[in-house]
Amino acid sequence: MKTQALPVAIIGAGPVGLAAAAHLIERGESLIVIEAGSKIGANVDNWAHVRMFSPWEFTVDRASVRLLEKHGWQMPPLNDLPTGRDLVERYLVPFSKLPEVKDLIYLNTRVVAVSRRNIDKMKDAGREDAPFVLHVICEDGSETLIEARAVIDASGTWHKPNPLGSGGLPAVGEKSQADHILYGIPDVLNSQRERYANRRVMVVGSGHSAINVLLNLAELIVTAPNTTIYWAMRGKNLKQVYGGGGEDALPARGRLGTRIQGYVDAGKIEIVSPFRVREIKAAVQELEVIGESSDGIQTIRVDEIIAATGARPDLDMLRELRLELDPALESTRALGPMIDPNIHSCGTVRPHGEAELRHPEKNFYIVGMKSYGRAPTFLLATGYEQVRSVVAALTGDWEAAHDVQLNLPETGVCSTDLGGEGTACCGTSASQSAPALISLSNIPVNNIRLQPINLQFEAVPVTIANVTHECGCDDTCCSDGVKSTTCGCDDDCCA
Ligand SMILES: Cc1cc2nc3c(=O)[nH]c(=O)nc-3n(C[C@H](O)[C@H](O)[C@H](O)COP(=O)(O)OP(=O)(O)OC[C@H]3O[C@@H](n4cnc5c(N)ncnc54)[C@H](O)[C@@H]3O)c2cc1C
Repeated sequence: MKTQALPVAIIGAGPVGLAAAAHLIERGESLIVIEAGSKIGANVDNWAHVRMFSPWEFTVDRASVRLLEKHGWQMPPLNDLPTGRDLVERYLVPFSKLPEVKDLIYLNTRVVAVSRRNIDKMKDAGREDAPFVLHVICEDGSETLIEARAVIDASGTWHKPNPLGSGGLPAVGEKSQADHILYGIPDVLNSQRERYANRRVMVVGSGHSAINVLLNLAELIVTAPNTTIYWAMRGKNLKQVYGGGGEDALPARGRLGTRIQGYVDAGKIEIVSPFRVREIKAAVQELEVIGESSDGIQTIRVDEIIAATGARPDLDMLRELRLELDPALESTRALGPMIDPNIHSCGTVRPHGEAELRHPEKNFYIVGMKSYGRAPTFLLATGYEQVRSVVAALTGDWEAAHDVQLNLPETGVCSTDLGGEGTACCGTSASQSAPALISLSNIPVNNIRLQPINLQFEAVPVTIANVTHECGCDDTCCSDGVKSTTCGCDDDCCA
């Protein structure tokens, strides 16, 4: 089989995976999108109730918009802030239903491994010419192999939450007390209200995910006054946790910090900091959370824990590929120094594209949230520029691949410079000339038994299970005086 006749396989129908599809379609390339979830934007759907801090202008991809507008779609007001649900229902789902796209997406299909046909990781001969093989599991449990000429992994990190233990390992008892621990951003005001109302709740983490939950819990107190909120974090530099406030180039992101500070100052939220979780113990009708504080070992008694401790990439499925990863962040190697939260707690990321995302494994790219590995500072505008550049390279348009243009927002507070001296912010790539669209058909997917796409998006209540993700600075920070690998929020210990 000629590799060139095969499609490009995109793993994940999230915002960045679908943007990759749009760019491939514009360039007349064949493709297939493989999505583990039962709906488009399955990860975003987990935080559907959360309002994003980027306005529409920075949450959509240009190629996707061009394709949508061709079919009469209307861009929402550029300055409005979408929720996760808006992003899915008003942008991702309409895109997935376009005639050029709808037959290319396979839902309920999980990629569990990627390799080269008949060539394992060790073997050199013929490697670059061999097709990729994706091992997938379908909804009914059946397994199949899909061949592809290139692979774009846009599978995010949401489904691989970091554990509560401060050293990156689960705390003692974390697994056995799982019934009282939720990883992610539960909708505490609606679908999860009963679980948290009038309970003692500890939120662990200091990024935007933690702040989002805390703001909602603080609101819950109005109607459930016996709710007690503990906010535990490893770092102790609250100024950095609160962020850039009015100096943040994304005002909504700045306001998150300002609002949470208001609740803390008003005594609605009790700060437990520094606090490094060691153990979670069941006691009579409560949990004991045992951790290290500045005064030694401290025990906090709670009913529920919400872990907003960031996430990490799933690298298991890429075990047979030759990757070059940053040893600390597990991001693509060249990206590491550019996004290291030890240095950049904000958007001081210089433009990057195919060159920085390249791995030794030719024609394989990790993009989107997953390309940042454990770093929490990814923004969609970054991912859209990544896939524009990667797709240009895959089609041999090296001029466009190298012409990377991206500015990211400053938080106003960086770990290296509290004045926020980063590059300017958040423009997506300059518009590029749009090649004529061609229709795609007969994508070869070998021996495959895939489920047809279900294009009916149902606004079902959000269920959050075992998931988390950080999108701001993360206080996974530092033993005293030691520069941590995933710090970014505590300049006391990381300077
Ligand atoms: C609460 C929150 C708010 C955010 N707000 C903003 C914001 O305002 N602005 C901004 O720019 N960014 C924001 N982000 C950060 C980032 O833009 C989002 O996380 C975004 O969803 C990342 O897009 P993605 O396509 O890379 O990954 P995801 O959206 O995570 O999509 C990955 C997809 O891959 C699928 N998948 C996973 N594993 C497999 C597999 N093995 N096989 C097949 N499919 C798989 C998943 O089901 C999912 O659909 C926010 C993040 C969070 C959590």
